Amino acid sequence: MITAQFNQWQDCGYVHPLTCGKNSDHGALEAKSEGPDALIVECPLCEWSQTIVRGSTLYQILGQFNLVRPNFYGPTDGSTP
Ligand SMILES: [Zn+2]
Repeated sequence: MITAQFNQWQDCGYVHPLTCGKNSDHGALEAKSEGPDALIVECPLCEWSQTIVRGSTLYQILGQFNLVRPNFYGPTDGSTP
């Protein structure tokens, strides 16, 4: 489930996507695996990866992303929520 919200974050176009810790020009990180305690995301171009631990601030923000979107940012297509 957190993978879907991570993908929404990476693709939405109105937040900065999470990028490689070695070179931010490597492109947006991609979800690799989701376990009970963490989401692991990795760089599409190199071996760099990041573990987003359940309970961390980032994990919580991602987990609420689809909920906060209409309130904080509004729809991106100009329609009314
Ligand atoms: Zn990289």
